Amino acid sequence: MARIVMKFGGTSVADLDRIRNVAVRVKREVDAGHQVAVVVSAMSGTTNQLVKWCQELSPLHDAREYDVVVATGEQVTVGLTAIALQAIGVEARSWQGWQIPIVTDHAHGKARVDRIEGDELIRRMEQGQVPVVAGFQGIEPGRNRITTLGRGGSDLSAVALAAALKADRCDIYTDVDGIYTTDPRIVPRARKLDRISYEEMLELASVGAKVLQTRSVELAMKARVRVQVLSSFEDKPGSLVVDEDEIMEKPIVSGIAYSRDEAKVTLRRVPDRPGVAARIFGPLSDANVNVDMIVQNIGEDGNTDMTFTVNRADLPRAQDILEKAKAELNYGALIADPDVTKISVVGIGMRTHAGVASTMFKALSEKGINIQVISTSEIKVSVLVAADYTELAVRALHTAYGLDAP
Ligand code: ADP
Ligand code: ASP
Ligand code: MG
Repeated sequence: MARIVMKFGGTSVADLDRIRNVAVRVKREVDAGHQVAVVVSAMSGTTNQLVKWCQELSPLHDAREYDVVVATGEQVTVGLTAIALQAIGVEARSWQGWQIPIVTDHAHGKARVDRIEGDELIRRMEQGQVPVVAGFQGIEPGRNRITTLGRGGSDLSAVALAAALKADRCDIYTDVDGIYTTDPRIVPRARKLDRISYEEMLELASVGAKVLQTRSVELAMKARVRVQVLSSFEDKPGSLVVDEDEIMEKPIVSGIAYSRDEAKVTLRRVPDRPGVAARIFGPLSDANVNVDMIVQNIGEDGNTDMTFTVNRADLPRAQDILEKAKAELNYGALIADPDVTKISVVGIGMRTHAGVASTMFKALSEKGINIQVISTSEIKVSVLVAADYTELAVRALHTAYGLDAP
């Protein structure tokens, strides 16, 4: 007998038939004698709609109220899933994040999980009850307000719950049957990976492979949670996220990811003086705006251009902060470009092999794709390109690194 956390994403709970399908899958594990806790996302499309409403009312909306709104999607699906389970004879009870509680920090919209009180859930699971837990939601201490864990955050809810419940496995059920060399929806010749290391999955997730949320992989790696990604609709083995030494074959590039959630900001003619970067990026970080790629051009006449990327959702906030600081920073112009995509190739083999970046640049230039910004890390090379070239670039790179399925 094992203790399992089963997480179902938005497409897996998109309508009542799919929720019934989830219930059947959960019942199967319960009937096999396992203790099961379920985590569900909102129905697919729901969270996007809720986010859009907040943005339409006010692009610089209050983050605490944003969380109140976007957390509602999961309230619907936990209740419905519990009802569907009860209807087929499984004892189930729904839990909102605050009821457990899942205690987070204060970073509304992208809160981190600090701790989960798991004792009551364990007690109930031992008595045969299935807790159905709302993904994505937490509660901040002190103010007792609802927080959310960032887009895709139900994965983090599931992994954090698996750690708190000391579960043997955390199974992430989704609309693909595993982790692929790249998004199978844009590269039909992507290959399914039986196993991938925590390090590579973390890097792929952090650069846009949304099959698992970044923080969920980070926590799984730290708390040694065994994560498996598998299909909600087909009975097939999935992909396991494991330690590096559990992987035999180590290709130089294991996967390619893209992120359309980027926006490029350029500050023209910034005075090139010590401290200028701190004065630009300090206020952005104080406002919880993450800056990713950065390039500073060689200065001319005492001025320089500074280009960087932020999450597209943070662009209005970043623009607002920089426009308010225009007099102090004394820059010439601010240019914002949301029509960009970041494409990244990832592989632990890069630590010991040269030439990965040049293969990338050559493959892109052969397709006539201009590279706007480049950044690298130990096991990753990323480039920023015009959004229109996303599919073409990912497919070209997938072929260039020999990843295409036969
Ligand atoms: P869920 O709603 O179940 O959480 P997501 O949409 O968040 O599902 O994640 C699953 C999607 O991730 C897939 O439909 C696929 O398009 C995308 N994806 C991106 N990169 C990969 C990859 N390397 N392997 C598998 N799926 C990927
Ligand atoms: N419903 C949330 C989102 O769409 C969380 C999740 O699905 O993981 O981001
Ligand atoms: Mg997801």
